[in-house]
Amino acid sequence: MGAGPEDLLLRGATVIDGTGAVPSPRTSVLIEGSRIVAVGARADALAADSPGLRHVDLPASASIVPGLIDLHVHSTFPSEQGVYLSHGVTSVRYAGIDLPAWRTIRDRVAADDPPGPRQFNLGPMIDRAPPSWPQWSSPIDSLDDAARTAARFLDDEHTDGLIAVQQLRPPDLRAAVETAHERGKPVTGQLWWTSAAEAAEIGIDQLDNTTRIAASSEITGDRLFSYRSVSERMTLLTNLWLTVDWDATDRMIEAMVRADVAYGPTFVVFEQQAGIHPETLDGDPAFDTAYGAAETAAWGAFIHHIVNVWTKEDRARFRRSIEVRLEWIRRFHAAGGRLVVGTDMQYGGIAIHRELAILAEVGLTNVQAIAAATGEAARVMRRDDLGVIAAGRFADLVVVDGDPSVDLGALRRIRAVMRGGQVVHGAL
Ligand SMILES: [Zn+2]
Repeated sequence: MGAGPEDLLLRGATVIDGTGAVPSPRTSVLIEGSRIVAVGARADALAADSPGLRHVDLPASASIVPGLIDLHVHSTFPSEQGVYLSHGVTSVRYAGIDLPAWRTIRDRVAADDPPGPRQFNLGPMIDRAPPSWPQWSSPIDSLDDAARTAARFLDDEHTDGLIAVQQLRPPDLRAAVETAHERGKPVTGQLWWTSAAEAAEIGIDQLDNTTRIAASSEITGDRLFSYRSVSERMTLLTNLWLTVDWDATDRMIEAMVRADVAYGPTFVVFEQQAGIHPETLDGDPAFDTAYGAAETAAWGAFIHHIVNVWTKEDRARFRRSIEVRLEWIRRFHAAGGRLVVGTDMQYGGIAIHRELAILAEVGLTNVQAIAAATGEAARVMRRDDLGVIAAGRFADLVVVDGDPSVDLGALRRIRAVMRGGQVVHGAL
């Protein structure tokens, strides 16, 4: 090959490729322009025939992982973008958004003002009226409207899929899923009316967050809709988890596994609502340097929207309920379910590392947790150009000191982050 000025051979480090495969020590990665051209012996052979190619020798104690993908974000603060990059996140996907705000941040990042990760977008949440998150939603009023709205987002706004939420009935969801799949695009759900088992049968790609993934004899689907506010709704959901019927719930898990529906717990946001591990956010050195009063106020308003009517007892019950959710995630993983990573909150670049640690706590190996935020994430996005260190994929890479397959904390010891073959944080 004739080496271009930006072509590069990374060699000497351990490669964790994002597929869940065992780490590969002292493995070379050859990058040409924005893409990975070859990995391992083939990379070395091509490099040997390429005089003038830049070589970067990394210590054997360093590791290379794919850039992390946060599948579920909302915040459009420009300040988030640099924190994503400095924490190894090279792609984010907005899961419910106000379209003008989305266009603004997309255009700014495209112009490197500020530099940020790749920006993917599922459009506004498709919901029945009244939507829980009006600023991020597009309510529909009929089944026809579900298909029309789905097509409008995909065809006119060029969204990378759809997000279908709370009050959609199974026929609404089916219309949205068919419209997206005809175009090769995925659908993520955060559904209450439609159960996880029904959504799996309809063919949804992914479920996130507070989706009705558990069954309870006391809190049935229609009972869940007897709320007047988001915080009352969260209280009902807490009661559902505290009265879970595991036999019926295991059948929902089986339906999801059988239909290959991924689940993104976004558990870190529940920890924040419960006041668990607050130090994982504001104890981070990046927090004070990157964020100011506007970000803190917006986050406070978000939490208030959810917890404002909670009593002390409600809070204690919520804490117990998230322990039951952890048990659900354990069971889903043990049954062969595919977990993926999203943060669903501001400060996502910091929070994603806590989400990975949670996945490791519920039984994923570190390599599986990394795959959940890389190769598995790309798979549910239906993207074969991201998320894995392999020939043909974008050179979105994070070089760290240490071996995250042994110590996930090594993912925070970042030497350099590359997006599309360009160093966007740190140095090689
Ligand atoms: Zn969300």
